[in-house]
Amino acid sequence: MANVSAYAAPAAKAPLELTTVPLRETGHHDVLIDVHYCGICHSDIHQVNEDWGPAIFPMVPGHEIAGVVSAVGAGVTKYQVGDRVGVGCFVDTCRKCANCLAGDEQYCTGGMIGTYNSRDKQGEPTYGGYGKQIVVDENYAVRIPDSLSLDVAAPLLCAGITLYSPLRHWKAGPGQKVAIVGLGGLGHMGVKIAHALGAEVTVLSQSLRKKDDGLRLGASDFRATSDPATFSELAGTFDLIINTVSANIPLDSYLGLLRTGGTLVNVGAPENPSPVSMFALIGGRKSLAGSMIGGIRETQEMLDFCAEHGIGSEIEVIGGEQINEAYERILASDVRYRFVIAL
Ligand code: NAP
Ligand code: ZN
Repeated sequence: MANVSAYAAPAAKAPLELTTVPLRETGHHDVLIDVHYCGICHSDIHQVNEDWGPAIFPMVPGHEIAGVVSAVGAGVTKYQVGDRVGVGCFVDTCRKCANCLAGDEQYCTGGMIGTYNSRDKQGEPTYGGYGKQIVVDENYAVRIPDSLSLDVAAPLLCAGITLYSPLRHWKAGPGQKVAIVGLGGLGHMGVKIAHALGAEVTVLSQSLRKKDDGLRLGASDFRATSDPATFSELAGTFDLIINTVSANIPLDSYLGLLRTGGTLVNVGAPENPSPVSMFALIGGRKSLAGSMIGGIRETQEMLDFCAEHGIGSEIEVIGGEQINEAYERILASDVRYRFVIAL
């Protein structure tokens, strides 16, 4: 087996360092991808820190991968050498369960294989996009439209699809009021996509520090959640609220912002449970929901939608040696709005 140069955390909570990890052979249905850019998702930090439970080390994080196909297996039909492709949060699934067959592979009941911090069907650890190359089955790669440059496209593979999927599922569009909680990597994609879908968008951020950006990205209102007046003035306003915050927030207060019948969708994944009062739901027939990334077909649809609407991520490109510093800045909400590693 070959090796590939990559940035890895050798142990839980340890700084990432340049090393080499195994690169699996390019099999019959596989494509070998030269990684050009990889976004840094807050989930990378959660997993390096074992916020979500025991993890596999050394860990090469990265599931916002944009690159170019440099070799294909003999049975590959979808891609050719030179094609621009992306890889998101998973690299294989059971392919047989009802969810896989419906194109909702992210909810595979047979066991989704994560792009990193996971084990493939042979039991070998998977390594993510903070490295020079990755091998994936052609069915788990998506095509990056020519009009999107690879750097701004990379974050669409997780942040983009994680917001696109619930916005479509809950039918965000003209006449709907949508609030996005947290203007970080996920949140800023939510503002752009919800606006492009025709919804009226409000950003609920901790402070008004990012207000100019929020309005520029497509929001028509921007409120600080540190100001109690936000919760009284906007009570009963929104059809849909998408919470992207990586920490626990007082959900009852946010449920109060929904109109009757509205839905609060959580995509943020804090390590601890969040208490909810049933009275915050039953008084207005409200729903509290969750959503995780999106399927392969929907990810391709999202990329095509973004290309059509000229939507990329707002990025700060860094070198691999700056990853640890970027992690600190993400934890301090100091990112506008996605770090992307040039590899
Ligand atoms: P991020 O770039 O760090 O953005 C999170 C934003 O939340 C921050 O920019 C900040 O926005 C706000 N925030 C942070 N701490 C807060 C606090 N204590 N109280 C209130 N607001 C706070 O992170 P991300 O990459 O967008 O990821 C966000 C979360 O989604 C993470 O938990 C990640 O693991 C999860 N995630 C889930 C999925 C999924 O499929 N469901 C996919 C990817 C990521 P303001 O400065 O505007 O307040
Ligand atoms: Zn992610």
